[in-house]
Amino acid sequence: MKTIRGITDLKDKKILLRADFDIPVSDGGQIEESFRIKRQKETLDYLVGHGAKVVMVAHISDQSVSQSFAGLVPQLHMLLGYEINFLKTVAEIGAYLENYLPAGRQVPPALLDNIRQNPGEEKNDPEFAKQLAQGFDLYINNAFAVCHRNHASVSAVAGLLPSYAGFLVEEEIAKLQSVIDSPKNGKLLIMGGAKASTKIPVIKNFLDKADKILIGGVIANDILKTKGQEVEDSVVDENAPELLAGLDLNNPQLIMPKDFNISGKKILDIGPEAIKEFSGIIKNSKMIIWNGPMGLFENDDFAEGTRAIAKAVAESSAKKIIGGGDTVSAVDKFGFGGRFDFVSTGGGAMLAFLAGEKLPGIEVLGYYGG
Ligand code: ADP
Ligand code: MG
Repeated sequence: MKTIRGITDLKDKKILLRADFDIPVSDGGQIEESFRIKRQKETLDYLVGHGAKVVMVAHISDQSVSQSFAGLVPQLHMLLGYEINFLKTVAEIGAYLENYLPAGRQVPPALLDNIRQNPGEEKNDPEFAKQLAQGFDLYINNAFAVCHRNHASVSAVAGLLPSYAGFLVEEEIAKLQSVIDSPKNGKLLIMGGAKASTKIPVIKNFLDKADKILIGGVIANDILKTKGQEVEDSVVDENAPELLAGLDLNNPQLIMPKDFNISGKKILDIGPEAIKEFSGIIKNSKMIIWNGPMGLFENDDFAEGTRAIAKAVAESSAKKIIGGGDTVSAVDKFGFGGRFDFVSTGGGAMLAFLAGEKLPGIEVLGYYGG
């Protein structure tokens, strides 16, 4: 895969940087979690520091700012350490590149408003990609969390310019590839959370890659129900039985919670016996990859399973990697932030990579060869 390090001369190069600023924002317009923004800084500093002229494109899905970066620019300025030239539309990029960018000195980066405001983005429209690439010398993808998307700013545009992976994409792939490649002996996958379609493929792929797989969250409900056990009003994913097809649900590597914390007719967390068993297995592992809360951790009455697993993973001497928006916010909420070897910025992208899928965003950068 081609990376920034391989670019010999960045000075005055006009760079289209696919960044990742998809962060949660409060109703009052405050950025609530800046982890993803901070993870962009290394690449941005490197490019700007070497005299490149950078235009960042990114998406934001938070509704409290109407999916626009417009009101967030001052906060991005503070977090990134640069004044930011805000461009409202793709049509403004051309004039910016021609008229605004001075030569021969450090130029603060520009940011285009939410790229998904353009209908061509999610369609991976080649015409839109052409428009977007216009006037640039190079393209750099530093948005790992969208690398599983066949979108114009991730995929099509990379075919139009010399294209490279930013430092974050490079690191994410290296760390996640090391999870796949590390010895099976002592490797543990912990899978919880809700979205069966993204998680069950990882479970399937890890049966021959990990010693054991601990199951919690809605995924546990899905498996129970598919096995024909009564889950009453518990949350389940209706596509789970289909997704679980071909998986031996009695495989001894798959470790289901022994007990649950139930309220009314709903399973809402793993129980004390499960916590004890899971914590013991975590303690004896050498490599841990964890995605997905064990229960409805947002409610204090059903947070103990997730808190205890976060603690056990944080305290283990294993190499430990976590990812997933809710997993990361749970870990932070319980005070275990900073206790892991690597925290992925990718939810869906991380799971797709771990499931063994080819990610379009890194395929175009040559990751899979060819
Ligand atoms: P991540 O973002 O870490 O990948 P997911 O988005 O898949 O995780 O799932 C997290 C959500 O799953 C949380 O909102 C959590 O409350 C919910 N959840 C986990 N277990 C249960 C359960 N037993 N019942 C209802 N919701 C649950
Ligand atoms: Mg989530």
